[in-house]
Amino acid sequence: MSWQGVEGHDAVVEQFRRALERGRLASTFLFVGPPGIGKRTLALKLAQALLCQQHDATELASCGHCANCVQVLAGTHPDLLEVRKPTDKSSLPVELFIGSRERRMQEGLCHDIRLKPFMGGRRVAIIDDADFLNEESANCLLKTLEEPPPRSVMILLGTSADRQLPTIRSRAQIIRFDPLPVELVADLLVSRQVVTDRAEAVRLARHSEGSLSRAEELADPELWKFRSELLSRLADPALDSGRWTKALVAFVEAAGKDATPRRVRARQVIGFAIEFYRHLVRRLSGAPVSADEELQSATAAAAQAWKGDAEAAAACAQRSLDALAHVERNANQATLLECWLDDLARIAARGVPLAGIG
Ligand SMILES: [Zn+2]
Repeated sequence: MSWQGVEGHDAVVEQFRRALERGRLASTFLFVGPPGIGKRTLALKLAQALLCQQHDATELASCGHCANCVQVLAGTHPDLLEVRKPTDKSSLPVELFIGSRERRMQEGLCHDIRLKPFMGGRRVAIIDDADFLNEESANCLLKTLEEPPPRSVMILLGTSADRQLPTIRSRAQIIRFDPLPVELVADLLVSRQVVTDRAEAVRLARHSEGSLSRAEELADPELWKFRSELLSRLADPALDSGRWTKALVAFVEAAGKDATPRRVRARQVIGFAIEFYRHLVRRLSGAPVSADEELQSATAAAAQAWKGDAEAAAACAQRSLDALAHVERNANQATLLECWLDDLARIAARGVPLAGIG
């Protein structure tokens, strides 16, 4: 079942349907779940339903044709406010909430949400990338959440409740989104013509962690070619990090001129390494391993040559998770990748976690 093209989140839709029916919609929501699974899509559809003129306020429905619906769909509705992290910033700047220095408290989301609805009804705000609220922005937002303006609805979108300040968390109704099932991701890849082959769609979906946008990003043959090379390098305890860094940085930079596609690629490559080390940990500790053929043979080779124990492999996985967190925070990619590979090479060469290397 899908509601307004929102797939895989029937329980969440149902929860909103019931809240509206009873006239008991909260004023602040925190949507949490992996990126790319439809949180923002659902937030926008919800906004459309709340603003639609053709449907009663107790109904979770929108007509798609009225002036309100048309403007929501076009992204121009004056009562729908949306902020997100600019691609060149590492956090949500405070200006988005309280205006520029010259126009403090005269613009920005915290100001605008207090205005009377232009087209009747309500005002709805969507705060995307809520994981990246900095302290200043969070404090400004908090003041608004403490006394939400009447008829306002605010929806924060983040990956986990733990990544939000407790003060924000406690003022929001938390709505958890599950990763999408593999079958659904595969269906969507085919129906959106990202790939034509169903088996290929399933393969990408398996690597997507239940995220459609990740699965779409993975539909890149270059990436899989690079993965083969990466796996064989990682399986070699004499990893030449200096030479290999150049190849890695060149591959990441070839994704495009902008920060976003480069970040996506860095994330993908580090993600492959995490997968590799996790499987290696399982293999070294005698746990059953199920993976694609390439990963199977790479971890088998690595386990043969590995100098340390499962703990050292776990340290590599952890080091890779740290690197991943830094990619999201928009650090200098080349330096980040260099330090990461360097640390992996040091752990692999000695077979002990870094803390044990003098
Ligand atoms: Zn409508």
